[in-house]
Amino acid sequence: SRQFAAHGERTVIEIDGRLIGGDHFSMIAGPCTVESRDQTLTTAHAVAEAGASMFRGGAYKPRSSPYSFQGLGQEGLRILAEAKAQTGLPIVTELMDARDVEAILEVADVIQVGARNMQNYPLLAEIGRTGKPVLIKRGLSSTLEELLMAAEYVLKEGNPNVMLCERGIRTFETAYRFTLDIMAIPMLKELSHLPVIVDPSHAPGRRDMVLPLSLAAAAAGADGIIVEVHPNPEEAICDGPQQIYSDAFGAYLEQVERAAAVA
Ligand code: PEP
Ligand code: MN
Repeated sequence: SRQFAAHGERTVIEIDGRLIGGDHFSMIAGPCTVESRDQTLTTAHAVAEAGASMFRGGAYKPRSSPYSFQGLGQEGLRILAEAKAQTGLPIVTELMDARDVEAILEVADVIQVGARNMQNYPLLAEIGRTGKPVLIKRGLSSTLEELLMAAEYVLKEGNPNVMLCERGIRTFETAYRFTLDIMAIPMLKELSHLPVIVDPSHAPGRRDMVLPLSLAAAAAGADGIIVEVHPNPEEAICDGPQQIYSDAFGAYLEQVERAAAVA
């Protein structure tokens, strides 16, 4: 699939009439996790009205502690289906376990592979066989080569609809959670024809850095952003400090789109 890149053709993925990659800039927005019907639908309406391209939200959550909230599971998927029915926004949601693939396929327009599962090769191959668009997040300590090989596991099964996602990696720096690797954007675009999406939320782990990182990503040529948004982040079950307020999302989107337009 790298020969493709050598010829300058870029993968453009169509999802419900929306185009990802090529000349199109996408904004995927929504809460870290589906906590309740009310929280999810409120956020979905806010980001839809502001002009987001897709809605994100986890029903199955990869938590560092097994004692933390693990997601609403099937009930969460039902709520996501309702969010899509009400707003028309395609749904991006994480698949953690191949045994949940059927349930996820009923709701997801894009399957998210979390950073912790980037090298779960049976899971990637299973997603490859579904043909469903997939967003693969870079592993916490993975090289770009390893990310590209993870993508190959999906592509090899005949599924060309792969997006790569830079979400921050472990470095020696301890002042923030992860280091967002901005250089990964032009480098991945040189090495691959796949759309490159940036997650500005999980690297800093704090809301005040989400806009500058988003602007940097857009200016560096990212094909899109996946950002966490919550109506009331103080009450969020997970990742509260990094989720931007849903009522600030419209202004945020406008600024990021301006940066993307000049890139
Ligand atoms: C998420 O998107 O909520 C998430 C858990 O991301 P990551 O896999 O990048 O940590
Ligand atoms: Mn999160």
